[in-house]
Amino acid sequence: MATIAHNRQQVIARIVRACVQAQRSVDSVTLLAVSKTFGAEAVRAAAAAGQRAFGENYVQEALEKMAALAELRDAIEWHLIGPLQGNKTRVVAEAFDWVHSVDRLKIAQRLSEQRPAALAPLQLCLQVNTSGEASKSGLAPDEAAAVAVEVARLPRVRLRGLMAIPEPAASIEAQRAPHRMLRELLAQLNCRHGLGLDTLSMGMSADLEAAVLEGATIVRVGSALFGARA
Ligand SMILES: *Cc1c(COP(=O)(O)O)cnc(C)c1O
Repeated sequence: MATIAHNRQQVIARIVRACVQAQRSVDSVTLLAVSKTFGAEAVRAAAAAGQRAFGENYVQEALEKMAALAELRDAIEWHLIGPLQGNKTRVVAEAFDWVHSVDRLKIAQRLSEQRPAALAPLQLCLQVNTSGEASKSGLAPDEAAAVAVEVARLPRVRLRGLMAIPEPAASIEAQRAPHRMLRELLAQLNCRHGLGLDTLSMGMSADLEAAVLEGATIVRVGSALFGARA
């Protein structure tokens, strides 16, 4: 488990180098540790190394880990980054701090209705499909504004920004293009609709540098921290 701490230092060094290159401050980028398929012990080891934000793809798996790590609840944040079905919104509204994968208004409405009053508003990102035909999940870029304006009005959620999962690309320039598209879309939403969005959730193990160069504020990193998934 010592390797998670070591891997985390390597990932942080990559983020720092990319921030230097982009002339951005290092604390403008949050490292989200994607712990899907890895057990509670891996999360515990990462938390002991100083990691605070964890991303999970599968609701049931995440709930089991949260139960096993209840004593860490105040020390860590849980982010849902995987697809969310309508019948799972209640447990998600009760258990998570963030949802990055909102791809329709109905889901955001349910999350807002079901967010317990005792908790802070649930932090949301809209997932946008920046890869066209190659991917089916996420809002089309030209649908994002209409949904964002409605989600921003909901009382128990707070719309923070946009998330994307671009297809892998061969060169750093090609990797940057979809990240740039997401950044420009966020700027457009803020400028035309005054939404004050501050979050770009983009970049994974393979392309975090390209994402940071294009303005990522959250990079979602799994395998570079925890190792290859089975
Ligand atoms: C699995 C996953 C990641 C992490 O991917 P790595 O390549 O392991 O860093 C990030 N975002 C989403 C949405 C994922 O499903």
